[in-house]
Amino acid sequence: MSASALFGNYARSNLSFDHGEGVWLVTSDGRRFLDCGSGIAVNSLGHAHPHLVQALQDQAAKLWHISNLHQMPDGARLAQRLTDATFADKVLFVNSGAEAMEAAIKCARRYHYDRNDPDRYQIVTFEGAFHGRTLGTIAAGGQAKYLEGFGPKAPGFDQVPSGDLDALKAMVGPQTAAIAIEPIQGEGGIREVDYEFLRALRKLCDETGALLIFDEIQTGVGRTGKMFAHQWTGVDPDLMAVAKGIGSGFPMGACLATEEVASALAPGTHGTTFGGNPLAMAVGNAVLDVILADGFLEEVQKKGLSFKQKLSGLVDSHPKVFEAVRGNGLMLGIKCTAPVGDYVAAAREAGILAVPAGDNVVRILPPLTISEDEIADALDRLEQAAVAVEEKLLEGAAE
Ligand SMILES: *Cc1c(COP(=O)(O)O)cnc(C)c1O
Repeated sequence: MSASALFGNYARSNLSFDHGEGVWLVTSDGRRFLDCGSGIAVNSLGHAHPHLVQALQDQAAKLWHISNLHQMPDGARLAQRLTDATFADKVLFVNSGAEAMEAAIKCARRYHYDRNDPDRYQIVTFEGAFHGRTLGTIAAGGQAKYLEGFGPKAPGFDQVPSGDLDALKAMVGPQTAAIAIEPIQGEGGIREVDYEFLRALRKLCDETGALLIFDEIQTGVGRTGKMFAHQWTGVDPDLMAVAKGIGSGFPMGACLATEEVASALAPGTHGTTFGGNPLAMAVGNAVLDVILADGFLEEVQKKGLSFKQKLSGLVDSHPKVFEAVRGNGLMLGIKCTAPVGDYVAAAREAGILAVPAGDNVVRILPPLTISEDEIADALDRLEQAAVAVEEKLLEGAAE
């Protein structure tokens, strides 16, 4: 049964949404769903946020695209605001997460090339990582299920077990261009990395001359209650990939770097036709207007704590379905005992959207604008779904 002319590479639900309002999504036949998936951590300010709609509409009437052959004042302004808020001095705008990671990887390699070290191209990453679906980033992620059937794995990528400092030290050497890591693994199952481990990474990079790349594509732009997740740790990278929440649904990404590292990408070395176009820059600036406003991130922290606490209660009362809560801010995950696919389907039945991840974890990634009342509503629905899964388990046992 393949009536659609679309490629069959996605396993889609049968829901079809017509519009959104804040944290709610509404189907064409009027059913309302509480969106705790945010289109996989993308709709940071929910759906149809008035400030973003206005910014996009205003820009749409003026100028859509001009290419990077000309000045981009809104891009320069957005870059300045991002660098003011981070370790970085320079920003390259792109269109997606994978493209932001590719830029970071290319920049790291070219940095060493420029220092007469052309063989220094190895990128070290961690098991369970996800860095995107391009040929380069599937090699970086190193997961067999994403590499299978796509020809030889791109050379220069090696992995070590997550959190294993000894394995890392054995792997890193004069051939290592960079170490890349997600401060919290997203697709891998909301697996947090020890702050201590990130500090050890920074030290190892400083000792060996390797660059440190943070993949904050999922963790960034306020998701954990800081602008970027690594800002909880006191450890700064040399390069950072950002995407997902930065456009709150408008496709865009960015690669951030220190001045010294960014200078490796001199004119002609790298580029993108669409990256940083006026529509994206208008939306990106509007997103920052909201997220960088006084008190916004503190609110995310508060709501994150409250949500996590409530989820802990839920987990305790449903041990047949859940095992433990993980995550920081509004990047939360529940490790399930029951199959996560069954739970996500039951949640959908209860009118709430969540996202499955690796390690049998369900991700709870609501818009950062979710209210305490909506969090309470989410809990009711998540509870209903847990009860439904328990009933199904009982029926299964009775057979
Ligand atoms: C989603 C994601 C990517 C890939 O982003 P795309 O926009 O799908 O290319 C890379 N890294 C992490 C950590 C992600 O969550």
